[in-house]
Amino acid sequence: MIDKNANVLLIYTGGTIGMVENAETGALEPFNFSHLRSNMPEIKRLNFNVETYLFDPPIDSSDMSPSIWEQIVHVIEDRYDEYDGFVILHGTDTMAYTASALGLMLDNLTKPVILTGSHLPIGKLRTDGKENLITALEIAADKDAAGHPVVPELCVYMQNLLMRGNRTIKINANNFSAFTSPNYPNLGEAGLNIRYNEQFILQPDYDKAVNFYYAMDANVVILKLFPGISEAVVRAHLAIPGLKGVVLETYGTGNSLIDSWFTDLLHDAIERGIVIVNVTQCLYGSVEMHRYENGQRLEKLGVVSGHDITTEAALVKLMILFGEGKTPAEVGRLMPLSLRGELTVRSKK
Ligand code: ASP
Repeated sequence: MIDKNANVLLIYTGGTIGMVENAETGALEPFNFSHLRSNMPEIKRLNFNVETYLFDPPIDSSDMSPSIWEQIVHVIEDRYDEYDGFVILHGTDTMAYTASALGLMLDNLTKPVILTGSHLPIGKLRTDGKENLITALEIAADKDAAGHPVVPELCVYMQNLLMRGNRTIKINANNFSAFTSPNYPNLGEAGLNIRYNEQFILQPDYDKAVNFYYAMDANVVILKLFPGISEAVVRAHLAIPGLKGVVLETYGTGNSLIDSWFTDLLHDAIERGIVIVNVTQCLYGSVEMHRYENGQRLEKLGVVSGHDITTEAALVKLMILFGEGKTPAEVGRLMPLSLRGELTVRSKK
């Protein structure tokens, strides 16, 4: 039920959603979110309070970076007690990375933080932005019978789907339906009503404080395997000065080539304290290294399983764990575990 006394903070970071078309020139110009109520009549019909915080200048999300993630977390932490929920407007290009990062930087979240955006500017007639924004605001103000938020999670809301943020990926450059959560059920769906899948929503410990993590170490890389990948390519990646973590995108259930030059390079990198996480190139499903000999070789070398984690979430998880100053052994132990629902651990059969 929407809390009529709710206070929701709308954080505009940038992206297409925040543009309006100048009726005279046809040019896209930044929308004035500080006059949200007068510029967007639909907002007036929400019966709870919405305030705004603007990143100035707005950021095209292709310019997103760990330092901007830190700024967003600061905005939330500084105002955490004042608001019942937060909606973050963000470009769609890197939304899945930001959702994964914030979904791990905010621990034991007791309030909704919903990321949304759009493919057409809010000022365009056919915009997808208005529905995304209004529904995200309503979700942020929704409470259960006990007065707790219905979705105390970091989520992405796009095109009728509410998804756990650190499970999302962008799958379409052109369609309004551009996001999916391949390995975890949607947390909700908006139709005539918003239907929540309560059993899949994380429940925090309301007696404990929220933890805000800030430090990130970006000495990480994604290495995607392909048939014909050369020794020089793998060697160059693993020789990056200061490198601490590698997201190794493998085939199927976590298989790779087993040429000795390849396994020797991985062995050498692991010996140097580089953590190598195995994620699958497939959209759906999970790494299971024990299934094939090629996968077992990786496991024996000390490559750790990312299970069904997305590449985006694996990358930022490495950044956060190394940012906390953890040793390679600790990072290697934590990567295969679920910290905030970012992966599903399946037992070996
Ligand atoms: N380039 C834009 C951004 O990600 C695209 C969008 O908003 O969808 O900021």
